[in-house]
Amino acid sequence: MQRVHMIINGKPVESVEGEWIDIENPSNKTVFAQVPRARVEDVNIAVKAAKNAFATWSRTSAPDRGKMLFAITDALEKNREELARLISTENGNALRTQSRGEVNIVIEVFRYVAGICREIKGNTMYLNVDNLDYTRREPYGVVGAIVPWNAPLMLAALKIAPAVMTGNTVVLKTAEDAPLAVLEMARLCNEFLPAGVLNVITGYGLECGAPLAEHPDVPKVSFTGSTAVGRAILAAASQRIAAVSLELGGKSPQIVFPDVDLDFTTDGVITAMRFSRQGQSCTAGSRVYVHESIADKFLEKLVGKLKKFQIGNALDEKTDAGSLVNLKQFNRVCSYVKEAMEAHPNALILGGLPPQSGPLSEGYFFEPTIFLNLPDSTRMTHEEVFGPVLSVSTWSSESDVIKQANSSEYGLAAFVWSRAGAPALRMAHELQAGWVMVNQGGGQAIGHSYGGMKQSGAGREFSLEGILNSYTEVKQVSVSLGAHGF
Ligand code: NAD
Repeated sequence: MQRVHMIINGKPVESVEGEWIDIENPSNKTVFAQVPRARVEDVNIAVKAAKNAFATWSRTSAPDRGKMLFAITDALEKNREELARLISTENGNALRTQSRGEVNIVIEVFRYVAGICREIKGNTMYLNVDNLDYTRREPYGVVGAIVPWNAPLMLAALKIAPAVMTGNTVVLKTAEDAPLAVLEMARLCNEFLPAGVLNVITGYGLECGAPLAEHPDVPKVSFTGSTAVGRAILAAASQRIAAVSLELGGKSPQIVFPDVDLDFTTDGVITAMRFSRQGQSCTAGSRVYVHESIADKFLEKLVGKLKKFQIGNALDEKTDAGSLVNLKQFNRVCSYVKEAMEAHPNALILGGLPPQSGPLSEGYFFEPTIFLNLPDSTRMTHEEVFGPVLSVSTWSSESDVIKQANSSEYGLAAFVWSRAGAPALRMAHELQAGWVMVNQGGGQAIGHSYGGMKQSGAGREFSLEGILNSYTEVKQVSVSLGAHGF
């Protein structure tokens, strides 16, 4: 059994109480590693280390910080395959279709952020000739970062690189199901960063995440995860008026117009639904609205393509989609599907509950599943399932489909499929979502302004502007040039 340590103040450490958390490989349901079970005392030690390091790190020149981030980028490149295999082993995402791509993005995130290290800029304002009014962008101090398991390395990199580049120090709590790749990345980062600048702790949400979110010496919390936990983070931060960024859940619509090329669009809809990530993506387009005039042909093609999907061990090069992350998630997805199948048996057009014997029962595997025209009262039509389960409905009126798409409490992403420019853009502008894609279903590009509307989140962290707004505070300096010898 491999035991992997946390990293606090540049050193590998166990938890104060010496307890461990088992890490299971969801492709074969076996425990293969353990990480420390950190609690409040460990959080206090990590925050203290980060607070001590801040005094020097915040005064380190921006180009020097950039150089260290470039060196980390090179180290990540050298370790890319090992990192990708770690992600697949701990969270079940397929190596070929997902984890290698995730590590590529992580490398590009570090490279991008290193490259913009000279962009920490304020502004000046003209008031009159005797005054100098300018703003400075100053780091907060210790950033408390909390991430989920579904894209663990990318989501951790998207917090670590921007926070550190802008002069903050970091205490990051990994997800209990996927800490290993993040710990390895943190080990590599610590070869180049001064001790205490990046600390990574492992533990459960209530025991370790909550004390971090509540810590009086953490003036900024950056959280990615579910909307329910996001609310708890916001409530904790409100006690001391800490700054918070929230990247939360979604139930994103995909609207298919009658004029589309069916081959291109069904491929795109599959990508947008993140079927090769078992639908375990915040931006999964899990509600498809297809125009009634093409619904039959569209579904025939969609089902035909998904039937060819190879589900299996995440490390197998033939695998298109791996397993769900754990038993809890598996049972959760099963409960949504069972409920819909029992209430509306004729609505199921692909997949369904997983087999209880045979190779697919050896891991938490779940085949692509589609329901057609479920009534809105069915839970899965409006709740985030976070599994490979798609609900498809037909539409005939543009204004009605916009209303339906916007009826969700979430507002993270939306997808529009059409060859007619103006109607597609009209719809893109009407949809209540922080990120609308037209005729494409892939992931976010670095530099995008990415984030959620409504209950999908608050704040934008991906772009230069987002990084500056999320990880620096603006200070106005107002100088009278005519007084006291100036
Ligand atoms: P989760 O909210 O259960 O957990 C996320 C993290 O928060 C974990 O590290 C967990 O240990 C921690 N946590 C749990 N309870 C806590 C508490 N009370 N205080 C502090 N920390 C706590 O989410 P999950 O199941 O790990 O991830 C799936 C969710 O994340 C989905 O809702 C998904 O949509 C969302 N997500 C959003 C984005 C985005 O960019 N908007 C990206 C990825 C995932």
